[in-house]
Amino acid sequence: MGSAAPAAPCVFCEIAAGRSPAYVVYEDANTLAFLDIFPFTRGHLLVVPKRHVDRLVDLPSTEHAGYLGALAQACRQVERLTKDYNIGLNQGRLAGQIVFHLHFHVIPRYDAGNPFGTLPRTRIGEADAAAVVRDLGGPIRR
Ligand code: 5GP
Ligand code: ZN
Repeated sequence: MGSAAPAAPCVFCEIAAGRSPAYVVYEDANTLAFLDIFPFTRGHLLVVPKRHVDRLVDLPSTEHAGYLGALAQACRQVERLTKDYNIGLNQGRLAGQIVFHLHFHVIPRYDAGNPFGTLPRTRIGEADAAAVVRDLGGPIRR
């Protein structure tokens, strides 16, 4: 974890170094955007810092603005396809992260449907809300 070089070869480091191919649609000094190899939809992009970090919290704060700018640029490019899209960031195995090199997904949407799956949700109760807000360091107000 963290920003040290990964033990095993990292697929996104290999792409960033030009040793593995990718369909790159945006590049600046610190960031790449390229097509996901198993796209959910046409134009599904991954926005990837060239520096290897596992997670957003590992990216130095001096690089946040540049990374967000690159994400916005990738969104502008996706908007050539559709104005509807999701931005996703999977952090950790249980959240579905399989490549442990930071990347935002930009996933164009062309039709209706629940992009976050079909798990049923129930409205939160007062007691559960109070407990989890305490665990999160709140409440600020209710
Ligand atoms: P995660 O689940 O870690 O958020 O998403 C990793 C994404 O990387 C997946 O959607 C997967 O299809 C994509 N991916 C994995 N290996 C490669 C690769 O070698 N090249 C490209 N372009 N995408 C990859
Ligand atoms: Zn990497």
